[in-house]
Amino acid sequence: MTPVLPTLAQEAAAAAGASPWPCGALAPWACDPACSRGRRHPEAPAPTRNPFQRDRDRVIHSTAFRRLVYKTQVFLNHEGDLFRTRLTHSLEVAQLGRSIARALGLHEDLVEAIALAHDLGHTPFGHAGQDALNACLLGQEGPWAAEPRGPDEPHGGFEHNLQSLRVVDELEERYPEFDGLNLCFETREGILKHCSHANAEWLEAREPGGVGARFLRGESPSLEAQLANVADEIAYNAHDIDDGVRSGLLTLEQLEQVELFDIHRREALAQHPHLTGRRLLYEAIRRMLSAQVYDVIAATRAVLHATGVCSVADVRAQPPLLGFSPSMREASARLKRFLLVNLYRHPQVMQTTARARQVVADLYRAYCADPARLPGLRRRAGLSLRRQVADHIAGMTDRYAIREHERLSGQRLFA
Ligand code: MG
Repeated sequence: MTPVLPTLAQEAAAAAGASPWPCGALAPWACDPACSRGRRHPEAPAPTRNPFQRDRDRVIHSTAFRRLVYKTQVFLNHEGDLFRTRLTHSLEVAQLGRSIARALGLHEDLVEAIALAHDLGHTPFGHAGQDALNACLLGQEGPWAAEPRGPDEPHGGFEHNLQSLRVVDELEERYPEFDGLNLCFETREGILKHCSHANAEWLEAREPGGVGARFLRGESPSLEAQLANVADEIAYNAHDIDDGVRSGLLTLEQLEQVELFDIHRREALAQHPHLTGRRLLYEAIRRMLSAQVYDVIAATRAVLHATGVCSVADVRAQPPLLGFSPSMREASARLKRFLLVNLYRHPQVMQTTARARQVVADLYRAYCADPARLPGLRRRAGLSLRRQVADHIAGMTDRYAIREHERLSGQRLFA
């Protein structure tokens, strides 16, 4: 017998019924582009796009965004064509973010702009590259630490969230009248997910009441920023399982230890008893993703209702309101621990990590010792040499860094 499928109109009506907000309507706790705190450099409004749409478009057209395609998420770009890169990760975060934003009456374009930009400051080789660059800048490498810090330069080592902000504020060179992309306050606030106290003070001195202020005042960011953060976590928990199994470093049997995954694997099997292999994996991940998305929506609606917030100002004065229910938070934390022990610290991943750290540290030492080896470097006033070298390395793709390391050292660390 042919199953009775819902019509598209029925599907749309069901989705609308699940949201108390008419399609496209903003809830009172959403960021309204008409009330944006604006751009650092005043610009005429775009005739057909709201400011957050325009930010999203600027991010997509940036050079840093295109580089994400050749930057590591967990597996190096050359290890396989189907693994997530920073680019596909960012697209998945944007998709999850938009989906949840619509159900909560948040501004979808703002969530998308933040999601697409959130990893722009990542170094090549993911966290390994970042840790190495951080160690270099903290003065554990070479005599260059003695050079004084420039006024346009953040404190200390390398923070990737701050670097993402510096990319959109300063490092992109596209517009005639200003450095960076000149994004709205709300987008920049979302990009700066974390910030050390020293750097928050440094930002505050340069831009009083700006994106550093909330770290000093202990305020929360907008719900759109909170959402981009949660969507990031949902995305990588799911796709790292997929990539982990694809790489052969994780097995489906191992994943049975993870309750959050296993509930959905068993449900999928109960409904489709003959499901095996890839299709079983995909179906379990798909159900797990949906469960987390619906959990965030329901838990956040309940919290918004209980706290009675009715403006963005109310949101800022509260601790973060958008997130999982307590039981899902615990289940997600257990999944993260599993991935840390079994995937991120897998001996094969650690071996790649060690080589990646060496590439970054060797490049840093070589360029600092002889800046002429960096033909593209135009010295900028207000920044020390070591910070400019770090900015240059942070902008590299994995494969460019590997080639550059081979050129300078004659060593071939990656086949
Ligand atoms: Mg991310």
